[in-house]
Amino acid sequence: MNIQVRPTDQAPEGATHPGARPKLSFQAKRRGKAPTHLADFDLSGRKAALKEAGLPAFRADQLSRHFFTHLNVSPEQMSDLPAGSREKICGLLLPKLTEQSAAISADDGRTVKHLWQLFDGAQVESVLMRYPSRTTLCVSSQAGCGMACPFCATGQMGLTRNLSTGEIIDQVRRAARAARDGKLAGGPTRLTNVVFMGMGEPLANYKTVVGALHRLIDPAPEGFGLSARNVTVSTVGLVPAIKKLAQEGMPVTLAVSLHAPDDNLRDDLIPINSRWKVGELLDAAYSYFQTTGRRVSIEYALIKNMNDHAWRAQLLADELNARGRGWAHVNPIPLNPTPGSIWTASSKKDQQVFVDTLRRNGVATTIRDTRGSDIDGACGQLATAVQKKMKER
Ligand code: SAH
Repeated sequence: MNIQVRPTDQAPEGATHPGARPKLSFQAKRRGKAPTHLADFDLSGRKAALKEAGLPAFRADQLSRHFFTHLNVSPEQMSDLPAGSREKICGLLLPKLTEQSAAISADDGRTVKHLWQLFDGAQVESVLMRYPSRTTLCVSSQAGCGMACPFCATGQMGLTRNLSTGEIIDQVRRAARAARDGKLAGGPTRLTNVVFMGMGEPLANYKTVVGALHRLIDPAPEGFGLSARNVTVSTVGLVPAIKKLAQEGMPVTLAVSLHAPDDNLRDDLIPINSRWKVGELLDAAYSYFQTTGRRVSIEYALIKNMNDHAWRAQLLADELNARGRGWAHVNPIPLNPTPGSIWTASSKKDQQVFVDTLRRNGVATTIRDTRGSDIDGACGQLATAVQKKMKER
């Protein structure tokens, strides 16, 4: 039996009329820019900014060490800077970018989700997750998102604005500090992985995200010195930007949010599929693998009776294998459901058949865990819940 639920069977959540369709947008309304920050620049840019303000360039090395190595932004703790100019230096390059507006933990304290308020009141989320052999932060790259995917809470908010490199990187500094200071159950640990799977479409904020990738990977103290393979950029499928990213010389891991192997379904499930089709997207993903040597992750949220059919698993395997062997790794994840809607998770049985079909065809497949689903772990759900509460107040 092959029941087919269509993404169009119900108006997207929050729609104003029954015939409403998700709307793509690449441009946010004009808003002020976040204050300039140390992390917006590479080391030479930091030196230039100090020089321009009449300060010695070598202070850039000291400041970088405070920020990227010691994860510190309080002037009081910067005893290697002259007391007289500390405030001026920090005011220039370390303005406060993020203010904590909520924090909740889950999974016995191994997951912590933060909601950050930015300089203009915009709010973004990040989620810190401890695993036995790694600690991962999921960061936001935009406030809201313009990609309008009907199953994604952030997609329903629309795009508020792009984050700055500093705003992305400050989420990371705070998480690295929380991990170091033992704020996760299990004691102090080191932040090892960063995934761009929070709010926003990272490749729609391309230049800023590439800047953030440099800060993550550049050796300390110019950057955090993370291993490029431990940094993942997740995209809904902006094909030209995937091609550009492959040329940046940073072998970060690419994740593609595919969610359907056929255009017929993906056209309705992922609005950007109207511009770049499944075939073009998989071609771009495969050439990313060829250029960087990094195996690509294929993200696939399993949605009951919509995209979880065995024939779709077979089609996905065929599409991947047609391009090459062993270049992609499929990560099915049970949909984080919206109660009372067509957006609900697959049954365990269908999930298993889906996974078995891929594996039988030689495709490496790992079910992604649903960390923090009890704290609205999926993308945008915390910000939405907080917004609702504020409106009710
Ligand atoms: N815009 C980027 C990154 C942010 S979303 C992208 O689309 O890849 C990170 C991942 O969470 C994506 O794979 C997205 O499709 C998925 N996602 C969004 N809402 C979800 C939900 N309700 N359940 C499960 N996964 C979801």
